Amino acid sequence: MIGAGIAGLTAAYSLAENTPDCKNKIHVYEKESLPCMFSSSRNAAIFRTYESDPTLSILVKNSYRQLLKIEKTSGQLMDRRGLLIDPLELDYYEDSFINQYPDLSEIKSNLKQMNFNDGYFFNGIMVKENGVIDIHAYQNFLLKYLSKRGIVFHYNTCIDDIEIQSDKIIRIHDANGFGINLSENDMVVNAAGSWAMDLISKARVKTPPVMTFKRHLFFLRSKTEHQFSNINLPVLWDEKRDVYIRYESNGFLATHCDQRETFAGDYSSDEKEVDRFLKSILSVFPFLKDHHISRYWACLRTFSLDQIPVVGFDPFIKNLFWVAGLGGRGMTISPGLIPEIQKLTLTQGLNHVKQPNPYSPIRFY
Ligand SMILES: Cc1cc2nc3c(=O)[nH]c(=O)nc-3n(C[C@H](O)[C@H](O)[C@H](O)COP(=O)(O)OP(=O)(O)OC[C@H]3O[C@@H](n4cnc5c(N)ncnc54)[C@H](O)[C@@H]3O)c2cc1C
Repeated sequence: MIGAGIAGLTAAYSLAENTPDCKNKIHVYEKESLPCMFSSSRNAAIFRTYESDPTLSILVKNSYRQLLKIEKTSGQLMDRRGLLIDPLELDYYEDSFINQYPDLSEIKSNLKQMNFNDGYFFNGIMVKENGVIDIHAYQNFLLKYLSKRGIVFHYNTCIDDIEIQSDKIIRIHDANGFGINLSENDMVVNAAGSWAMDLISKARVKTPPVMTFKRHLFFLRSKTEHQFSNINLPVLWDEKRDVYIRYESNGFLATHCDQRETFAGDYSSDEKEVDRFLKSILSVFPFLKDHHISRYWACLRTFSLDQIPVVGFDPFIKNLFWVAGLGGRGMTISPGLIPEIQKLTLTQGLNHVKQPNPYSPIRFY
C-alpha cells in the first residue's frame, strides 16, 4: 500500500478483512511520520449521501450502510446533525435505492425551511442522518484493527520509484534507494492521493488521469459569544451558489468551494481567496457578518476526468491496483469502497481487467 491517507487505510482494511492470515503480508508505506497528514485530516468531514451523479449516488448510500455496520464495532463515528442542502441537481436514485433497504429510511430527504434571526431563512432539503464524520475516531478504528491483524506500517518511507518488468512491478524503491522486491503474487496499491499520478508516470507508463485541485477552508469565530451554541444546526450547503458552513464550538467551518488546478503536495494557502470567500459567504449567509476569520488553510482534492474514483487493477501493469481520485468525497465514500475493493481484488486477482466496473481505470483507454 503506498500512502496512509484514508484511501490507503481503507484499502488495507478491505484486504485484511478478506485475508484470514494477513500477519506481515500487508505493508503500508507512508512518506510522513504519521498517517493522514494531508487531505485526510484537513477536510470538512461532511458525510453526505445526497448526490446527483448515478455512480456516486449509489456509492454514498452503500457507504452509509457500511458505516452503520462498522459503528456496531467502533461505536458512533458520525455526529448526525443533518444536512440541509439546496442542491444544484436532483438525486434521481434517491427513492429507488433507499426504498430497497429499511436501514436507509433516515437518509431520505424532506423539504425544509430553516429560520434564523433578522428574518433570514434557508430553503432546502433536509437529510436527517447526514452530518460530520469524526475522522480521528474513524482513522483510529481502522489503525487499531490493522495493527491487531499484523499489518506492517513503514513511516518516513517515501516510495520514489517502481521497477516494471513484463508488465509487472517487480521492485519498489524508497527515496534512499532501498529496494523492496515483490514476489510473484504480490500486488501494489497506489493510494498516494494527489501524488498518485506522479508516482506511476515516473515509471514512464500510461496512467489514468487524476488531477489535483486546491480548495480553501475557513474557520469563522463569533464576536458575540455563543450565538448559536444552543441551536442544533445542520450542515448548511447552498450548492447553487457553491458555499457550505457547519457549526463548530462557537464558530463555523466554511468554504466558497474554490477550485484551482495545482500540483501534488501544494498545500500553500492563497491570501487572494480571503476576499472572494467573504464576498461569497456573506451573500448567502448574511448572519455571519459579525464573525471574523480566525484561521484558514488549503487542502487538495484529487479528481479523475469524470470525477468518479479510480478503483481497480491498472490496465497496463498487472499487479498494480488503484485507490485514488477520491475527489471531494473521500471521507464519505471510503466505507462504501470497502466491499468494492474486496469484490475487485477477489474476483479479478492479479489478472487483467476484462470487465470494467464504474471505477475501473480501464475506462480511460
Ligand atoms: C477543502 C476540502 C474539503 C473536503 N471536505 C470533505 C468532506 O467534507 N467530506 C468528504 O467526504 N471529503 C472531503 N474532502 C475530500 C477528502 O479529504 C479526500 O477525498 C481524501 O482525504 C483523499 O484521501 P487520500 O487518502 O486519497 O489522499 P491523502 O489524504 O492525501 O493521502 C495520501 C497519502 O499518501 C502519502 N504518499 C504520497 N506519495 C507517497 C509516496 N511516494 N510514498 C509514500 N507515501 C506517499 C501521502 O503522504 C499521504 O499521506 C475534502 C477535501 C478538501 C480539499
